[in-house]
Amino acid sequence: MTDVRTDVLIVGAGPTGLVLAADLARRGVPALLVERAQELFPGSRGKGLQPRTQEVFHDLGVLDAIRAAGTEYPKMRVWEGAEPGQEWDMVKRSEPTDQVPYANVWLIPQAATQRVLYDRLRELGGEVRFGAALAGLEQDGSGVTARFEDGSTVRAAYLVAADGGRSTVRRALGIGMTGETVDPKPMLVADVRVTADAPVPDTHWHVWPKAPGGGVAFCPLPSDKGRLFQLAAQFTDESAGTDTSAEAVVGLLAARTPLAPEHIDEVVWASGFRARAAMADRFRSDRVFLAGDAAHVHSPAGGQGLNTSVQDAYNLSWKLAAVLSGAPARLLDTYEEERMPVAADILGISTRIHRAGRDGAPVQRGEEVQQLGIGYRDAALTRETREGLADGALRAGDRAPDGHVGGIRLFDAFRGPHWTLLTFDAAAPEAAGGPESGTGLDAGTFDGILELRTLRLPGCAAYGSGAFLVRPDGYVAWAGESAEGLRAYLTGLLTADPA
Ligand SMILES: Cc1cc2nc3c(=O)[nH]c(=O)nc-3n(C[C@H](O)[C@H](O)[C@H](O)COP(=O)(O)OP(=O)(O)OC[C@H]3O[C@@H](n4cnc5c(N)ncnc54)[C@H](O)[C@@H]3O)c2cc1C
Repeated sequence: MTDVRTDVLIVGAGPTGLVLAADLARRGVPALLVERAQELFPGSRGKGLQPRTQEVFHDLGVLDAIRAAGTEYPKMRVWEGAEPGQEWDMVKRSEPTDQVPYANVWLIPQAATQRVLYDRLRELGGEVRFGAALAGLEQDGSGVTARFEDGSTVRAAYLVAADGGRSTVRRALGIGMTGETVDPKPMLVADVRVTADAPVPDTHWHVWPKAPGGGVAFCPLPSDKGRLFQLAAQFTDESAGTDTSAEAVVGLLAARTPLAPEHIDEVVWASGFRARAAMADRFRSDRVFLAGDAAHVHSPAGGQGLNTSVQDAYNLSWKLAAVLSGAPARLLDTYEEERMPVAADILGISTRIHRAGRDGAPVQRGEEVQQLGIGYRDAALTRETREGLADGALRAGDRAPDGHVGGIRLFDAFRGPHWTLLTFDAAAPEAAGGPESGTGLDAGTFDGILELRTLRLPGCAAYGSGAFLVRPDGYVAWAGESAEGLRAYLTGLLTADPA
């Protein structure tokens, strides 16, 4: 790589980096995504997409491809040796509604998700520079200079560390990770292709909680190349090393399950880890931001890691794009302010689910893992100007729900880099106008910084009355009943930082 300049340097082409790069490409922001490996990650590890992530993927235009490459979660089947026994459902299933169109977690191997995101990035004109390993960085008042292992440099206005749990960027900045070991027992995760006659039907996620040496789970994965399963095995011996060789994985399955070595066609990928819950002490150092696993790591129990990472990227991308277009730099402070409490909550949820499920106890995962309740009611960007709201009313800071109103699907209206002003019934601010008209606000104020679309709609029970300004990442930024209130909010948002 020769020495280059860009607006945003993204380090790491995992889910975080790919979502960020695709969304910045969609916004026309010059960005460079670099990846140490020579190719995309090949394993299945983060295989559950929660409802909120599916909504983000709808907005990013990849949900159809994600649905085509995945499937619903199967039920669990508990075995004792070669004896299949009780069945239970880990997923608390719900029917989709008008407000929550994707009601259940969706099973898709992480590698397939990354492939879909990569294809979308390329469709939007972006690329990944593979084989580019960041070695260090320096920053000053106007930008960041990143050094690569091959001696080249990149100069960028901002850098985003999407380089995973062992983040080189985080270490280079000296930002600590504070946390704890969730479980001292080592785990092995592997993708295993089995023969057509292997005695594990694709209809179930098979578990052997009392297997000799430690519990085993074997989950069927959607695959267009034969029968693929994700193996997760625990070692009761805390000092055990996790041997990730194909021989060791085959030997483990033969020793702990009814599968014989001849049932295993191929060990596609394997990795070992110990469950930890830890969070970076800061998510920002001046012009550098930490996102995804670089900012927080936790147990895979509850399927939160990839999902939280995608949403970090979605929270940050529109803010970076706005500031690079001229919005005040303080907008970037709100990334850490909004995402740190979310990460702290996720750490607690994953640790609780991990510990509750130790020794194979059947733990059903409910609404707390779906990430639909995440919001920013108390954040600096949020303004609720209405008073006397009923309990349970939609408020500024909440996720903006979907719905079909006046022949329009709201998620389709939100889709894209713009902000959306929704006004419902007679209480709408007079400045909002109809779908074709402007906001009535000084258009110049927003020119080149934020695009605002307005929709005047008949009433919608999920929203209630009033007007709702929806951020590009799908949260209600402002709710109120007067054009003056809206004008004051937007003016405040875009007023330059004091010199
Ligand atoms: C064993 C295991 C099981 C998991 N199971 C689940 C699950 O069931 N559900 C779930 O939601 N999550 C799960 N996760 C978590 C999920 O995989 C992660 O949260 C997700 O991959 C984080 O994405 P990321 O892009 O932040 O980081 P990563 O996916 O780790 O990507 C970081 C990228 O940065 C690259 N990189 C690193 N250093 C450099 C450098 N110096 N220069 C350039 N590039 C660099 C890496 O090669 C990598 O491609 C699991 C994780 C593990 C380890």
